[in-house]
Amino acid sequence: MSDPQSTDFRALAEQYWLGQADLANEHHPVRVSFPGGQEIAPGLLFFKGVAAISVVDTGAGLVMLDAGTPRDIDRVYEAVRAWRPDAPLVAAIYSHHHMDHIWATRRFDEEAARRGWARPVVYAQSLLPEHFDRYRKTQAWNNAINLRQFIGRRDANPRWPVDFRYPDVTFDRDLTLTVGELSFEMHHARGETDDHLWVSVPQRGWLFPGDLFIWAVPNAGNPQKVQRYCEEWGTALRAMAACRPGLLLCGHGMPIVGVSRIEQALTDTAEYLESIERQTVALMNQALPLDEILQRVQPPAHLADRPYLQPIYDHPQFLVRNVWRRYGGWWDGEPDNLLPAPRTQQAREWIALAGGVAAVLARAAQLQAEGDLRMACHLVEMAALAEPGSQAAHAARTRVYAARSAQELATMSRGIFHHAAESSREGRRDFLSGQITGMASGGER
Ligand SMILES: [Zn+2]
Repeated sequence: MSDPQSTDFRALAEQYWLGQADLANEHHPVRVSFPGGQEIAPGLLFFKGVAAISVVDTGAGLVMLDAGTPRDIDRVYEAVRAWRPDAPLVAAIYSHHHMDHIWATRRFDEEAARRGWARPVVYAQSLLPEHFDRYRKTQAWNNAINLRQFIGRRDANPRWPVDFRYPDVTFDRDLTLTVGELSFEMHHARGETDDHLWVSVPQRGWLFPGDLFIWAVPNAGNPQKVQRYCEEWGTALRAMAACRPGLLLCGHGMPIVGVSRIEQALTDTAEYLESIERQTVALMNQALPLDEILQRVQPPAHLADRPYLQPIYDHPQFLVRNVWRRYGGWWDGEPDNLLPAPRTQQAREWIALAGGVAAVLARAAQLQAEGDLRMACHLVEMAALAEPGSQAAHAARTRVYAARSAQELATMSRGIFHHAAESSREGRRDFLSGQITGMASGGER
């Protein structure tokens, strides 16, 4: 493991680009944080927490682009004040509402009151406040889904606050903020969220895509979260490329340096999204059921080796489901699933027909030994549903899902499978189910 204190961001960015950084583990763009900020271009202090945070010195005050998690509040304030002790933070821009992009303005608000400065003006797209309201409404739900997504346990639960700093200025489509000689051109684009924006600073050739670029297959499929938008996302990436920036401050992971590299990364990612969308819609137009579409749609093969398009966070199949949900609905096209019998009842019927839980678990073990973990999961799930008190069923379920989790590259599937394995260790299908009332909020990413 490289030393996070001494890692040079520019050097690491080069390793990222050359495919020499282990983005699945050691340098995972979402999971790995670095403690300090670095001035990666004159007047631009860059932090890599869970997400990126950038602070720009305009000569007429500071502007913050994205504002991190609660853990970033103190460290960003202290690093900025070590860098520029007396320049007020005049503005901050949230790229979207997710919990890893919105917190670090807090100490600057307090400082403004203390030093008699104007409070920083926070900018966001006009749909953002509704999402803060949604988080308050679904606090415990969001806590649960993030525990599953990020391999958390109840006792390790971070108590995320929900006392959000709401924006002062919102806009629908485009807005330019001018501070000193720099303009911050904000553009709305539906993508990872419906309130997403990206920012171009043309005088410097800097571009801030937020989570529209994260050094991974785009987070356009997330199984537990609200709708995402592949097609508009691709359009936004192409609009960003047309700005011909020389420095891309990615929402997660290291920056990309150089016009041609940035153009390639943005247009490849656009093509990836557009391809998934186009294939899925074409098959929907053939009236195929979701199951068949999931088996047929494939990401573009010629992009498979791109270091910035590996499925290390979201999974390509989840993107297909999101397109289906957007243009179709929740029904998967299977008539028996329209008004189904309870899963428990279905499982009891199948398990009885198969000769009982022991026979099913024996077959699951055989499938696991043969490497077919996908089918083994179906069998142990049916066994645990049919006989929820069976220790043998839960032991098998732990074994199968732990192996499945270890095999997965995508954070989201790895986390959910791990959660299933851990739940069966406690003799339950989901240890959060029915247990989350009154828990602190998790928000989402
Ligand atoms: Zn993010």
